[in-house]
Amino acid sequence: MQKIENLSQVLRKAHQGRYAVGSFSPRYTKLILPIIEAAIETNSPVIVQISEKEVYRHEVDLKDFAQEFFRVTQELKPSIPMVLHLDHTKDFEIIKQAIAQGFTSVMIDASEYDFDRNVELSKQIVAYAHPYNVTVEAELGKIGTTDFAETDHDEELYTVPEEAQKFLGLTKADALAVSVGTAHGIYTVRQPKIDYNRLQRINELTQVPLVLHGGSGVPSDMVVKAAQMEKGGVSKVNIATDVEQAMLKVVGKNSFMTEKELNSYPEEVLSKAREAVKELVKEKIKNYLLSEGKANH
Ligand SMILES: [Zn+2]
Repeated sequence: MQKIENLSQVLRKAHQGRYAVGSFSPRYTKLILPIIEAAIETNSPVIVQISEKEVYRHEVDLKDFAQEFFRVTQELKPSIPMVLHLDHTKDFEIIKQAIAQGFTSVMIDASEYDFDRNVELSKQIVAYAHPYNVTVEAELGKIGTTDFAETDHDEELYTVPEEAQKFLGLTKADALAVSVGTAHGIYTVRQPKIDYNRLQRINELTQVPLVLHGGSGVPSDMVVKAAQMEKGGVSKVNIATDVEQAMLKVVGKNSFMTEKELNSYPEEVLSKAREAVKELVKEKIKNYLLSEGKANH
């Protein structure tokens, strides 16, 4: 029996169990399979995600992406909990499309606006999504970026705990992306850090699971510490860049490509790329998120 769930169902258990669930972005439809295989082999819950920017950047059809997710889950019939999540999105139309295609969770990123406007937009999405039993992740504060693959932010603004409390009370969002020091993309000049005191304070004042973005390249002990904090640290960690890097290494490219370009590689290469992605995801599940063996808990 397949368990396609929404974020709340999966993250509540992670919060209680003091581990985090990986929200992996395959970025390319063909890489959904190895992510799910890795989760099955480690008996871990898993979130498969794609963002609005990735849809444009890699020329992915949201419908194809959702169909491939459901094809894989039909074929493998895993008993692990799985979520199909729309990452950073600003456009209400894309959120509607995703929900129509069967996504069980969406993220509204209105963090570029002031507090009131962010509340207003996030509330709108919650009102739309909840009747479909689709959960909503919102963002407060600004998570920085190094490569603009996921958001346009080039500045970071840490989440203020008291504002998070007020924000969640007003929006009724199901999960909150917090800015506590990590950034999207590859860490080059900037080094990853996590403000644990801030994380703890946000957790004390709020009830919903917190999400750590920019998980790629953050040392595993830092993420483990964030997942295992006593009051429940972060319950969802987004990993996108690392997945793509694993694939690019195999195909011998150093920059991203379109969906069509990846599909034009011979099956032999694609199969090696899938294998590399699978290994990476398994490694993250085991040593980074600590979600191995948690599928039935
Ligand atoms: Zn993000």
